[in-house]
Amino acid sequence: MKSSFKLAAISTVLIIALIFLNGAPSQQSYDLVIKNGFIIDGSGNPWFKSDIGIKHDKITKIGPIEKNQAGKVIDARNLIVAPGFIDVHTHCDRGIVEIPTVDNYILQGVTTVIGGNCGGHSFPLEKLFQKLEEEGASLNFGCLIGHNTIRRKIMENKMEAPTEEEMEKMKALIDQEMKAGGLGFSTGLSYLPGIYAKTEEIIELTSVVARYGGIYTSHIRDQGIHITEAIEEAIEVGEKNGIPIQISHIKLAEDAVWGKIEKITKPVEEARERGVEVLIDQYPYTATSSGFTSSFPAWCFEGGRERFHERLKDKENYQKIKSFIIKRRLTSTKGINKMETIYIARSRKSPEYEGKNIQEILISQGKRPSIDNGVDLIIQIEREGGAQGVFFQMDEKDVEDLMRLPYNMHASDGSVQIFGIGVPHPRNYGTFPRVIAYYVRERGIISLEDAIRKMTSLPAQTFRTKDRGMIKEGMFADITIFDYDTFEDKATFQEPHQYSQGLSYVIINGEIVVENNKHTAKLPGMVLYGPGKTTGENK
Ligand SMILES: [Zn+2]
Repeated sequence: MKSSFKLAAISTVLIIALIFLNGAPSQQSYDLVIKNGFIIDGSGNPWFKSDIGIKHDKITKIGPIEKNQAGKVIDARNLIVAPGFIDVHTHCDRGIVEIPTVDNYILQGVTTVIGGNCGGHSFPLEKLFQKLEEEGASLNFGCLIGHNTIRRKIMENKMEAPTEEEMEKMKALIDQEMKAGGLGFSTGLSYLPGIYAKTEEIIELTSVVARYGGIYTSHIRDQGIHITEAIEEAIEVGEKNGIPIQISHIKLAEDAVWGKIEKITKPVEEARERGVEVLIDQYPYTATSSGFTSSFPAWCFEGGRERFHERLKDKENYQKIKSFIIKRRLTSTKGINKMETIYIARSRKSPEYEGKNIQEILISQGKRPSIDNGVDLIIQIEREGGAQGVFFQMDEKDVEDLMRLPYNMHASDGSVQIFGIGVPHPRNYGTFPRVIAYYVRERGIISLEDAIRKMTSLPAQTFRTKDRGMIKEGMFADITIFDYDTFEDKATFQEPHQYSQGLSYVIINGEIVVENNKHTAKLPGMVLYGPGKTTGENK
């Protein structure tokens, strides 16, 4: 009795204080109201029509709301209102501090990105997170811990298995990064130096992440004829450590395995049958993108760049490297001219190559477009410092069949772009609108509700982001609003620096970041810390 009287007295004082501050009691129950939209809530359920009320950074009401209750009203009549898109596979840890507006993601409707994939991350995480806390970013950001980054710090480019001492040092670094807020551990096993690591090494290093309840993500060793074994290796790492596994940018990347989707579904579904949480992500294009280094045998880089140059001078080694590249990059079981499928996206040494394929470059140099000349050119490009390449190596039908899998999510495998610089993969600008425009609207491969589920609640569930990825009362107000008839990617392989169209609004933590297809330059994004920071304790 006494305490409730006290409460009543306090509330009276508060109300008087509010009247004093505002002049009158506030009629506005919401800072922002979205009215009349077709809400697709992220669960996979069909749309429903309602209003959404937002107070501060949260969704506080779904239901009919009067206009006068709102600070600002967005009329979403005839528009789709979805949770903001979550991209689990990015490299945005590079560039998010320099370009905090992250325009190429925001203007796809993306509200959360996870960086540090494929074995590489910005080390140390504490410094990156601190910068973001101080300076802000437009979208929410979480980060994985990259195996290659950690291994290089301790072992440089050594091919051997780590000594006991090196192992302990690597584990200590991972522990430090988990405590700083890392979400889990990522490997890039076709890149240096991860390519040298045996499965046992990865299992042991991942045990540090497992202690905190992090996730294991992997750019697997092989995405061609040995893809099943490579998936099984990733599953083994997660299964032995009792944590979820995310297989990154899934694809059948050699024409020898085109059409053989069971090479992926069999190991994944068998693991799920035994209760192992395995998921995959995919970008909606038939071309990959990576450094030219990935076309070379791992041994030729052992000991660093200088040793690589020395090896190229040796005739026998040169021939060995040459036949490896021919087998890996220039041979087709389907009679495809592979020289026309390899494009240079970015080259510091030879910018005139950008946007051209190997065949076109040879012709422009007056050379015969033979495989022999092609492989010499690839080696020359790497010798002169390397280049970022785009490789058309997937079959459209496989892309579509993989997209239908219920445990697959849409993700870009992109990074923060400087508008107009280089010729990056169009996935950096177009992934999410492309899924909706091309695969949902034009091709009817999946339903809109399923596509949105795979962009929102599925990634949130997998990365244990419990308060995002759905339109529900109590969730953070991350919302993407678009016109279903016109939402479309514009970025192409020839002209990738093009933003999508048909994006009406993007709201992040209750703030409007896109209004009528224009970035407002607001920076309301939050850092999404992993379990090592939020609980501070081991599991
Ligand atoms: Zn990768």
